[in-house]
Amino acid sequence: MFKALVLTQEGKKTLANIIQIQESDLPEGEVLVDVAYSSLNYKDGLAVTGTGRLIRNFPMVPGIDFAGVVCDSRDPRYKKGDQVILTGWGVGENHWGGMAEKSRVKADWLVPMPQACDEQKAMMIGTAGLTAMLCVQALQDANITPESGAILVTGASGGVGSVAISLLARLGYKVVASSGRVEQNSELLLSLGASEVIDRSELEQDSRPLEKQRWAGIVDTVGNKVLATALAQMNYGGAAAICGLAGGFALPTTVMPFILRGVSLLGIDSVSCPLEKRQAAWERVIELLPESYYQQAAQTIGLDEVAGYADKIVKGQVTGRVLVKI
Ligand code: NAP
Repeated sequence: MFKALVLTQEGKKTLANIIQIQESDLPEGEVLVDVAYSSLNYKDGLAVTGTGRLIRNFPMVPGIDFAGVVCDSRDPRYKKGDQVILTGWGVGENHWGGMAEKSRVKADWLVPMPQACDEQKAMMIGTAGLTAMLCVQALQDANITPESGAILVTGASGGVGSVAISLLARLGYKVVASSGRVEQNSELLLSLGASEVIDRSELEQDSRPLEKQRWAGIVDTVGNKVLATALAQMNYGGAAAICGLAGGFALPTTVMPFILRGVSLLGIDSVSCPLEKRQAAWERVIELLPESYYQQAAQTIGLDEVAGYADKIVKGQVTGRVLVKI
């Protein structure tokens, strides 16, 4: 028997309880992993609190990412003792996830632990860090260089935002962080590498179709009016890597930035991102993130604290990355 956080539904309410389960309860998969760490992402917050009906089938073990050690494998690519990382593929949404002492998953979903990384570091990065790397890579692929101008990072205090700031600063970009918690988090955001922090409310105003040009690139985790205003402020030829909806899934914009300034929208998905691209992004994020990132922007909690933190992350009250020690 081993410990798992299990979500059940009572009426319309989602309940989260730590209970003992056994290996035979786990879903099908070729690889059984002893989970060392999971992490808390915005999506985990939605799952655990039952917001937005992310989970359709109960009972469910949440945890959209984890890192651990293989304890049994029916796939030749993995053997007992291998360290592995999992992010995405619907794990923790429609396949039991990482918030349990063991997880059984498909071998195709795993990434071997990159050199110079361990389970703890891997989950300090987690889905959020991988996504931030994919955003930064997309801007680079769109030829947005440090010479192009400033990069706006929205939802800056969150998991994706904080890693994106660190990565962009490390690559020499001027980063402007947009946050709804300027007073509380400015010091952290500047220490991660932002050169300026602006109040989110500045971007939440209704905007004209085109405004004064400010941004060569955007990493957006928020969507809605914030993204619409930022798009209206893009430089000619700018590009926006968009991955999130913390402010809502709407995008109340016009065609003007795209047809008059040649702006590009780059959609970023880490869930089904192909293995080769995923592995390359993992290697790169580990190479680029400075040691200081791990000290400044991550905190560790236990399984028993997940429900409380899930509520906080959905309310936008969590800063940086939250690591879950299993
Ligand atoms: P997070 O840690 O909760 O960060 C989100 C941040 O957005 C918050 O820290 C807050 O930053 C800001 N925010 C919160 N509520 C807001 C609101 N109502 N309006 C505007 N801003 C708000 O979440 P995360 O894990 O970084 O994920 C961020 C978003 O990216 C989520 O929507 C998530 O689902 C998405 N995501 C997508 C992918 C993908 O593959 N496409 C992967 C990972 C995450 P400030 O207080 O600094 O403003």
